[in-house]
Amino acid sequence: MNARTDIPTQYQLVETRLQERLDNDTTRCNLCLWRCKIGHGQRGFCQAHVNRNGTLYNLSYGILSSIDIDPIEDKPVRHYRPGTKVMSVGSYGCSFRCGGCHNLEISWGVEALDELAKGESTEAWVPPQSLVETALRAGVQGIAFTYSEPAVWLEYVLDVSQLAHEAGLYTVYVSNSFVTDEALEMMAPYIDVLCSDIKSMSDDFYKEICRPATVQQVLNSIKKAHDLGIHVETRTNIIPGKNDNPEEYEQIATWVRDNLGKDSPWHITRFFPAYKLDHLPMTPEEDLFAAEQAAQRVGLENIYVYNDKGCDCAKENRPVEFYLNADSDEIHQTKKCAASCCGDEGVLLKKYEVNLTSKTEV
Ligand code: SF4
Ligand code: SF4
Repeated sequence: MNARTDIPTQYQLVETRLQERLDNDTTRCNLCLWRCKIGHGQRGFCQAHVNRNGTLYNLSYGILSSIDIDPIEDKPVRHYRPGTKVMSVGSYGCSFRCGGCHNLEISWGVEALDELAKGESTEAWVPPQSLVETALRAGVQGIAFTYSEPAVWLEYVLDVSQLAHEAGLYTVYVSNSFVTDEALEMMAPYIDVLCSDIKSMSDDFYKEICRPATVQQVLNSIKKAHDLGIHVETRTNIIPGKNDNPEEYEQIATWVRDNLGKDSPWHITRFFPAYKLDHLPMTPEEDLFAAEQAAQRVGLENIYVYNDKGCDCAKENRPVEFYLNADSDEIHQTKKCAASCCGDEGVLLKKYEVNLTSKTEV
């Protein structure tokens, strides 16, 4: 394994990979399609990137909220290295705020990110090489970035992925695909598999979970990943009353057929009540099979239905120290950021505060 000298060896904020300096110390983040314009001391929608005097920093580089080991089929991915095991990892922060999210305490991780914005944290910090060594020690064949949108953590995802490839491991990126072309181009050499949600074919659905997102943006991003040579599989979680109409099933399947190929796998998963959608019932089984039949009618060849599976959740994972083979006190001791950009607490942009407190239905 090559020893890269630019990879941090202790906890610190790391400069955001895709940033564009604007006037008056304002900087645009181009990792996801929010393309947040962030002023000094402010954080973007995901809360994981902060502006310090005109430079953007990722707060969560090396910070792990969860680790788990599963068969790759559980991501769900069926047509890439079947029968192998993958180590799934996640951090904090997400570009969406889904009403039915099962991972909210880590996908948003408000407290953890607030601490990180102050340059002090008790969260697990794992340098890229240690994570790859952990995966090799566990005997898995790949590493998956999941549990929230990995684009908001891309600096770490890229460093780990490069080392993972050098060590002979494959990499999986589980995404909501609200991701910029620039980020996809940057990750394409290092990411083998994209497992992406197509949550709905309705802009209204996306608007409720992520105000600026449109269906077309998400579909363009998935197609771009496919065109860049990443192996793509798609997934739709059928939510009663939200995206469960037969026309929509057919539209999704038709898009997959026409843009990814009729042999491209489409995974249909079941909704389990959570968070703001805990008043809804589980998806009736007949709706899952209705979606499968709609996809068969339009000629999709590889349709997978899961009546026991919803999102790729991190809910019942063991503590990260179990996998890191480390003492819990040691892993969670207070760490001070080794960089020197801090000094004041990052604050949310006003316009995003409004979004965060508004009621989201999806
Ligand atoms: S939500 Fe986060 S990752 Fe996306 S553009 Fe804003 S700061 Fe960047
Ligand atoms: S369901 Fe996924 S995309 Fe939505 S908020 Fe949770 S982690 Fe983010």
